[in-house]
Amino acid sequence: MVDVLARFAGGAQGVLASGLKEDSVGFMTAHSTQEAAQGAGRQAPRSRRFGVVIVGGAIMGAAAAYFLREEGYEGSIAVVERDTGFAHAATALSAAGIRQQFSLAENIRLSKASLEFYRGFEARFGVSAGLHEQGYLLLAPPSGLAVLQANHAIQRAEGCDIVLEGPGALTARHPWLSADGIAAGATGLSGEGWFDPWSVLGALRGANRTRNVTEISGEVVAVSVLHNRIDAVTLADGAILSCESLLIAAGPNSGRVAAMAGVDLPVEPRKRSVFRFRCPEPPQAVPLTVDITGVWVRPEGDGFICGWSPPSTQDGPADPGDFEPDHALFEEVIWPALAERVPAFERLRLAGMWVGHYDYNAFDQNAVIGPHPALDNLHFLTGFSGHGVQQAPAAGRAAAEHIVHGRFRTLDCAPFGFARLARGEPFAERNVI
Ligand SMILES: Cc1cc2nc3c(=O)[nH]c(=O)nc-3n(C[C@H](O)[C@H](O)[C@H](O)COP(=O)(O)OP(=O)(O)OC[C@H]3O[C@@H](n4cnc5c(N)ncnc54)[C@H](O)[C@@H]3O)c2cc1C
Repeated sequence: MVDVLARFAGGAQGVLASGLKEDSVGFMTAHSTQEAAQGAGRQAPRSRRFGVVIVGGAIMGAAAAYFLREEGYEGSIAVVERDTGFAHAATALSAAGIRQQFSLAENIRLSKASLEFYRGFEARFGVSAGLHEQGYLLLAPPSGLAVLQANHAIQRAEGCDIVLEGPGALTARHPWLSADGIAAGATGLSGEGWFDPWSVLGALRGANRTRNVTEISGEVVAVSVLHNRIDAVTLADGAILSCESLLIAAGPNSGRVAAMAGVDLPVEPRKRSVFRFRCPEPPQAVPLTVDITGVWVRPEGDGFICGWSPPSTQDGPADPGDFEPDHALFEEVIWPALAERVPAFERLRLAGMWVGHYDYNAFDQNAVIGPHPALDNLHFLTGFSGHGVQQAPAAGRAAAEHIVHGRFRTLDCAPFGFARLARGEPFAERNVI
C-alpha cells in the first residue's frame, strides 16, 4: 500500500499566476477564491454564492460536476473537499472492480452504462481508464445455487455476457480452481473486470477545471436550512457557501453530512482491509473471483489483491479514523480460504495491505441518487456499498440530470431515490461484495 498511498499524498500550497492559492493537487481555499474575487489585500467576505455546491471531490463529486456541464449547466459549481490528496477516500482505496453480476437490473444498467463510458474514456479524455476486461467469477455452494441461478436469469435478460456452469465445466475453464464445495459458478466473458479510478478521477478533475468548476479545499461542518430549502454550507474555516442546490457526494461520511441538514441518511463507513500478495507460480487469467466464503481475489500488477466481505452479523459501522489493517483477518479467514480454492495460493507471500471504508447504506446496501423528497434542492449521490467506482459515470450523470432538468433522462434512477428510505421500502441489492 505504501506505493498506493504515496501517489495520493498531498503537499504544500502554491500561488497561481491568477493570484489564487492552490495546494499541490489543485484545490483552492474558500478564502483564496474570495480574495481573488475582491483583489488581494482587501478584507475578504465570509460568504460566497454558487449555483451548485458539491460536498466531496472524489469520483462521485467529480463525475457529478463533469456531467452538470455535459448537461448544459451554466451556473457556478463548487466542489468542496477536505482531504485534497484523497488519502482516505474510498475512490483511492478501492479494489476498482466493474461487473454486471448484480441481483437488480437497475444496478446492471448503471454498471453497463458506466462500462461504455470507461471503454471510451481515452477517446474522450486522452488518458486511459486502465480497463482490464478480465471478468468476474462468482461461486456458489449448494445452498446458494438458487440465488445464483435467479441472478443469472436477470443478468441474461439484461443482455449480460455471463455463463453459469457446474463444477466440471468450471475447472475446465479455470484450471487453477478447486471446485470442492461448489455447486456452480458464473463467469463474465466480457464487460467485467477492473480499472484505474485514480486516472479516472484525475481526468475528470482536469476536465472540470477547464469548464469553470471551482474546487475548494475545506471541510463542510454545518448545513443551514431556510424555508424548507438548503441555504448554505459552512466550512471549518468559517467560510459560508450559499447555494441553489447542494449535492452530497461525501462517500462514507455522507450520513454525517446529511445529519447536518437534519436528514437521517443511513450511509456510514464500513471498514474493509485489502491485502496484496505475490505467488511463486501464479495462476494465469484469473478473473475477480468471489469465493463461497466471501473472500475475493484478483490480479494486480505482478501479484494479486484480496479481501473479504463479512456476513452482516460480523459487520458494523467503523470508526471513521480507523485505517489500521486487520492482520488476523488475513491469517485466519482470507489465506485459508484462498489456499483451499486456489491451491497455488498455498505458497503466497504477503506484500502489503491497506484499509478503506465502504460508503455503506445500512438500509438496503444500494445507492441513494437524486433529490430529497421534502428539501428539494438537496441531492444525493452516495451509499454505493462497495460498487461505487464502477457506477460513478452513469450515477453522476443521473444526479446531474436531476439537478439540471428536474428528472432522470438517460437511466431511470427513481428506484434509487431517497423516497424509499422515507417509506421504509428497501431496494436491496443481494450481490454486495
Ligand atoms: C476496500 C474497498 C474496495 C472497493 N471495491 C470496489 C470495487 O471493486 N468496485 C466498485 O465499484 N467500488 C468499490 N468500492 C467502493 C467505491 O470505492 C466507493 O463506492 C466510491 O469510491 C465512492 O466514491 P465517493 O466519491 O462517493 O466517496 P469517496 O471516494 O470516499 O470520496 C468522498 C470524499 O468526500 C470528502 N468529504 C467527506 N466529508 C466531507 C466534508 N464534510 N467536507 C468536505 N469533504 C468531505 C472525503 O474527504 C472524500 O474525499 C470499494 C471501496 C473500498 C473501501
